[in-house]
Amino acid sequence: MFNQKIVDSFENKETPFYYYDLSLLKSTLTACAEAANRYNYHVHFALKANFNDKVLAAIKAQGFGADCVSGGEVKKAVETGFTPQQVVFAGVGKSDREINYALDQNIFAFNVESIQELEVINELAAAKGKTAKVAVRINPNVDAHTHHYITTGLDENKFGINSWDLPAVVEMLKKSKNLSFLGIHFHVGSQILDMNVFKSLCVKVNEMQAWFEERGMPVKVLNVGGGLGVDYQQPDENPIPDFEAYFKIFADFLTVKPHQEVHFELGRALVAQCSSLVSKVLYIKNGIKKNFAVLDAGMTELMRPALYQAYHKIENISKLKVGSQKLEDADSSTLNFQPSTILYDVVGPICESSDCFGKDVAMPETKRGDLIALRTAGAYGEVMASAYNLRPDIRHVFSED
Ligand SMILES: *Cc1c(COP(=O)(O)O)cnc(C)c1O
Repeated sequence: MFNQKIVDSFENKETPFYYYDLSLLKSTLTACAEAANRYNYHVHFALKANFNDKVLAAIKAQGFGADCVSGGEVKKAVETGFTPQQVVFAGVGKSDREINYALDQNIFAFNVESIQELEVINELAAAKGKTAKVAVRINPNVDAHTHHYITTGLDENKFGINSWDLPAVVEMLKKSKNLSFLGIHFHVGSQILDMNVFKSLCVKVNEMQAWFEERGMPVKVLNVGGGLGVDYQQPDENPIPDFEAYFKIFADFLTVKPHQEVHFELGRALVAQCSSLVSKVLYIKNGIKKNFAVLDAGMTELMRPALYQAYHKIENISKLKVGSQKLEDADSSTLNFQPSTILYDVVGPICESSDCFGKDVAMPETKRGDLIALRTAGAYGEVMASAYNLRPDIRHVFSED
């Protein structure tokens, strides 16, 4: 992602900022669209992963829909120009205000997560003289084999409707005059790299759609959620996820009838690799046991390490090796050759011990003023930025600027 030219262009930029490689974003979106189109699959982008305006514009231009988990995201999707037909709304705690707003926008579907929510949407739709299209989010009790904080499809998780409640759901749907049943929805977790998880999901979806259809409830939409993971360890080697292999699992194992559409809700896989958090070293503290590199970015700019022990590759981009650059292009006076590395705990300035990006990170000898990149930060990065410690708003730099 970084070469000397890009790093040089950062010279007068105030840090920290999120750097976006828009051409990588576009190639990722194209790769996903081509793989999905092979099977006529519909892709919705999960806005919660990244709602930066330029990112959303690229995603909309690609023709993807919008998967929202709050009224604010529904509003953002509408303002970005996604058509109501492209917008779905999930979430375990939709407020009346959010439901009313989404009803006013005539969105494509509510992904409903409880029996009580069905009741409330029916009432609110009735008050407006409308029919709400609903998909039932089912908790399939499939283990995503991912970090427990980002597992969502087990019986003990708060998401979705558990199988033992489904007979009551059918009863409710049949008697609710202002609900129209669209289909079934699943989302089992995030950062999933083991394709067997999606295979198990397909088996569950097949079981569930048969169950609904046996009860006289035609399932028009099979929404299998998102969750495809990315390579946090080797972002330069694997900048684009293997969408071909991902969609092929569903093509091989999901039963799809002619009257059905298959929907996906990808977040991380589409945006994680296209952005890095770029930060400056404020201080180096050399201790007896530890060397600390204190950055001007912290958990307020990138919370994933503090929140779920997430790994981000950390690079001192002021000490880029010649690497892939041609030697004759390299101005040796500006390039440093650093044969040996030192271990640093890379930390932020926030008054919390969990404000640590990485322990014992091997870097060339690092100095005050060096630029540090936290890679693969495009998903669940700037969207989680907070004002804790009265930190300023996060800045951005785009590759085309
Ligand atoms: C977060 C979320 C997604 C996207 O998950 P990724 O792991 O980023 O692909 C999809 N659907 C729902 C309902 C979600 O909450």
